[in-house]
Amino acid sequence: MPDLDEISRAEFDRAEQALETALNEAPPSFKDLGITPLAQQLGLTTEQLNGHWCSRCQGIWFGYTLETQCPACGNRNG
Ligand SMILES: [Zn+2]
Repeated sequence: MPDLDEISRAEFDRAEQALETALNEAPPSFKDLGITPLAQQLGLTTEQLNGHWCSRCQGIWFGYTLETQCPACGNRNG
């Protein structure tokens, strides 16, 4: 029986890869949902920001690595 931690890590890696691909291949028309208040508060630089896909907004928002909530609609499910 496979280790559950291993599976979720693999899932996470796949999601990260998919996101990177999406960021690289996204048409210029993808929605830019902005930067989260937390990231702004922390004064993160562009290099420190992580892009997160929101399926509800069909766009990408930028925030701290561990943030999960879309700043535009509050969706936490990616
Ligand atoms: Zn959203």
